[in-house]
Order: sequence, then C-alpha cells, then structure tokens
Amino acid sequence: MSRRLPHTEWCARDHRCNLREHRSDEIVVTLPGYGRAVLTRVADEHGREYAEIRARLALHPVEPAARRQLQAVLADLRDLVTRVGNAARPAPRHSGRTAA
Ligand SMILES: [Zn+2]
Repeated sequence: MSRRLPHTEWCARDHRCNLREHRSDEIVVTLPGYGRAVLTRVADEHGREYAEIRARLALHPVEPAARRQLQAVLADLRDLVTRVGNAARPAPRHSGRTAA
C-alpha cells in the first residue's frame, strides 16, 4: 500500500475515507417522479480525483418505452463521460516548432 495521502479540503473525514481514498459528503439531486442522483467527489490513493455518480431513474412501465429510455441513458452517459474525461486531460503542450 502506498503512503497514505492527507485528507483533502473537501473530504468528509469519516468512515468512508479509509479504503485508500478520500470521499466528500454526498450531493443529492432528487426530482420527485423522475428519480434521484448522488454525486460524490473522490480522490484515490495516488491523488487522482473523480466524480462518482449513482442514479436511480424512473422508467416507463411498458417495455419498449423503457428500453428506449435505457438507450437514451446509455448514450447520455457516454457523452457525459467523454465530455468530463476530455476536460480532465491536461492541455496539449506546444513544442515551439512550426509546421513545415
Ligand atoms: Zn479523507
């Protein structure tokens, strides 16, 4: 196990931050009739930070409609993961060279 990192400024500093990571208090979004989502900020043992999301979304009671909703959820999650992941990458560094 690597050296334990000190608590972050936003860490909840409770039982949740002893499994090789630091975890914030949960931020909960509840929309009655639509669902609920919980976001937690997490730093792993290497100091890398993540947004962890858990959501419960209301599905239509009829199967074809529910499947369409699930397809939309997966597409939106893919877009979200890509957009946030791209924003987390360091900006490319210019070499100072110009194209020939
Ligand atoms: Zn902590």
